[in-house]
Amino acid sequence: MSAPDVAEKLTSLAKRRGFVFPSSEIYGGAGATWDFGPLGVELKNNVKRAWWRDMVQLREDIVGLDGAILMHPKVWEASGHVENFTDPLVECGNCRKRYRLDELPDGERLTEAWRAKTLDLASTACPNCGQKKLSEPRRFNLMFKTFVGPVEDTASVAWLRPETAQSIFVDFENVQQSSRKRIPFGIAQIGKAFRNEITPGNFIFRSREFEQMEMQYFTRPEDAPRVFEEWKARRREWHASLGIPAERLRFRDHAADERAHYAAAATDIQFEFPFGWQEMEGIHNRTDYDLRRHSEFSGKDLSYRDDVTNEKFIPYVVETSVGADRATYAFLCAAYDEEPDKEGVRVVLRLHRALAPYKVAVLPLSKNERLTPLAREVWAAVRPHAMSTYDETQAIGRRYRRQDEIGTPLCVTVDFDSLEDRAVTIRDRDSMAQVRVPIAELVPALQERLGA
Ligand SMILES: [Zn+2]
Repeated sequence: MSAPDVAEKLTSLAKRRGFVFPSSEIYGGAGATWDFGPLGVELKNNVKRAWWRDMVQLREDIVGLDGAILMHPKVWEASGHVENFTDPLVECGNCRKRYRLDELPDGERLTEAWRAKTLDLASTACPNCGQKKLSEPRRFNLMFKTFVGPVEDTASVAWLRPETAQSIFVDFENVQQSSRKRIPFGIAQIGKAFRNEITPGNFIFRSREFEQMEMQYFTRPEDAPRVFEEWKARRREWHASLGIPAERLRFRDHAADERAHYAAAATDIQFEFPFGWQEMEGIHNRTDYDLRRHSEFSGKDLSYRDDVTNEKFIPYVVETSVGADRATYAFLCAAYDEEPDKEGVRVVLRLHRALAPYKVAVLPLSKNERLTPLAREVWAAVRPHAMSTYDETQAIGRRYRRQDEIGTPLCVTVDFDSLEDRAVTIRDRDSMAQVRVPIAELVPALQERLGA
């Protein structure tokens, strides 16, 4: 099974089974935006819940925040995004097609030359029409611009946030004082962000509207390099703990000239997607850049006073930033599996139990008026304890495969013996082993297998 095959099969499975649909599809789509269907919203919520549990619930030193998407326009001047959050955009003088510089053939070398101010595109042909008429790159700002109130003028400009981090910086003092946290501590946030990508693509890997899971950890300046290394290791471990094989994860350190404008050190945690190694998460040492700039632009001193030593300083920030959509896609890619069986091929999403959309499916052996009432009674008993589903159409083997294909770890089968002995069969997705348990003990038996 080749990697491009997996991407294609997953995209088709995602649509057919209700994980992900193209947004506004009946109108022909809306430019690389995606809707998460009934199974997709469960999966993505589980990814976010797992992140929040690890980053907030289990930590003594991290608290949460849910900031507004629209912020004061000065935030984005202070953050440097108005000036620096740009991609080099090249246009063909012949066919008018536009490219991000790095997606042209030999783009990496061209980008390096552009950074070194030695770029010459005279001998580079347009990949679309073959003519050598590419323009000099111009800086294209990736922020979506909109207007607050009824007047569309410069005084009413607002930006859709391109990262969630800035509300954490702007709220630093409010959070620190209200939660009485002392440095080192972190603030975590999950929320939507928007980037007007020139060339989005690869399914939900890069889209213009996406969800971030970001944490900013505030430290003493001298501790930042050590904290950076600690978070690198911890975040890689998180992905592995939820089922990503270690050999499909790696670090890629950024060279000095490719780092974002705020970063003193930056590493990607890359995942081996079907289309190659790509960033799934970024770990950054943002220094005191953001708090210092917001102090300057707002006139509000955001330095921190250590109440033991009485020292006053602007904290350094180590950031962990992962896309919820991107991580969801990675978990899907890592989980996809096919194995031969007597009916041809069994497709299994080997999702970690914590991530699977449905934990349990309740299935009567056949659609039968004697079985249905008991099967529905069993489902009613399971529902309060685990996200679950019920299916009584088609042959039982078919229904097992439908559940395997969406990653449901456990099926509960109600058969004719159940009417006599008040017991049911639990069937495991991965081993396909079956075990008989009394209905009275079903919920604890499921919880034990789900690790809940
Ligand atoms: Zn062209």
